[in-house]
Amino acid sequence: MLFALISFFSCAKPVPKQTFFVLGTTCTINLGQAGTKDVYAECFSYLSELELVLSANRSDSNVEAINREAGVKPVVAHPYTLEVLTTALDIARMTNGAFDPTIGPLVKLWGIGTEDERRPSNEEIDEARALVSWKMVQVDTEAGTVYLPVKGMRLDLGAIAKGYAADGLSRLLSTRGVHRGIIDLGGNILTLGDKSPGQAWKIGIRDPRITRGGPVMGLPVISKTVVTSGIHERFFVENGNHWHHIIDPATGYPAQSKLLSVSIIGSTSMIADALSTSVFIMGQEKGLDLVQKFPDIEAILIDNTNKVYVSPGLTNSISILDTAFVKVSDTTQ
Ligand code: FAD
Ligand code: MG
Repeated sequence: MLFALISFFSCAKPVPKQTFFVLGTTCTINLGQAGTKDVYAECFSYLSELELVLSANRSDSNVEAINREAGVKPVVAHPYTLEVLTTALDIARMTNGAFDPTIGPLVKLWGIGTEDERRPSNEEIDEARALVSWKMVQVDTEAGTVYLPVKGMRLDLGAIAKGYAADGLSRLLSTRGVHRGIIDLGGNILTLGDKSPGQAWKIGIRDPRITRGGPVMGLPVISKTVVTSGIHERFFVENGNHWHHIIDPATGYPAQSKLLSVSIIGSTSMIADALSTSVFIMGQEKGLDLVQKFPDIEAILIDNTNKVYVSPGLTNSISILDTAFVKVSDTTQ
């Protein structure tokens, strides 16, 4: 009997990692020795549940119900929606609206990453831009409802919800006794614990000019999230213009901040996700000022001349692997 039990357990091999397509992107979770089919299935089911609530791309989501009733009536918001939207509105306030969860009309209009992607006319952009206004969102916490008061307004939580998902996965895994692993939700990375006792995970920062480019910098992290926003995730090129998916609400056009990529390092993936998009839009100077306001947040910015700006807390830990990229503190400026 004892022999049978031993051979049963030795057959239940760990599943080191699994990849799913969910949240509109490729999500890979690697739990090493702690990976089991059941725990991965639970992770996938959690991500699917989040998608069903938070997606702006499916008509049956809670976010779409709120969008459909814009200008008509408040809609009961799912607790996930309320939690993400509350943080999104806080970040909108802190960034003076550079980050705006009501960016939906502009996202739909440009359609970047969809079959309908195109450069809209200036009139269309002005019309959509008039509907983008985080200050108009009415959240009734007592009734648990959200109301968008003007017809055509649309929430889009795509810049923050993957981070929320990563934080949720981390909590879920912790309750299952999993404290070591790495979660990658389409570039939104969260490490659980260390890679092996005392050894950090080495996270690569990709070449921002190439889709799925190779690592040009390395960063050791333990129990941290690293979230990157860049110009090569979703884009199209038209008449020599590179139109990417991070939109500046002030202009209605993809942000032209000279930055090619922004990576944010912190302990909360939702905050890091929102900040990676925000700093990208705000640009190097204002973006780094914003980062300073958060005690546990660091940033790596790459601009269009391959200069790398690093927040003070990271200067000594980052290693540049490709000499085409130069840390600003290493140049005469
Ligand atoms: P980030 O910089 O983190 O975010 C960029 C995205 O944020 C843009 O795509 C836009 O949606 C939004 N955004 C742009 N400008 C601003 C701004 N100024 N302020 C605030 N937000 C802004 N994609 C699909 O193609 N099909 C799907 O079915 C689909 N479902 C999804 C479901 C969920 C729940 C989520 C979270 C995303 C989904 N996506 C889907 C979107 C897809 O995965 C996005 O590419 C991703 O969320 C953007 O993340 P990022 O890391 O590339 O960039
Ligand atoms: Mg983001």
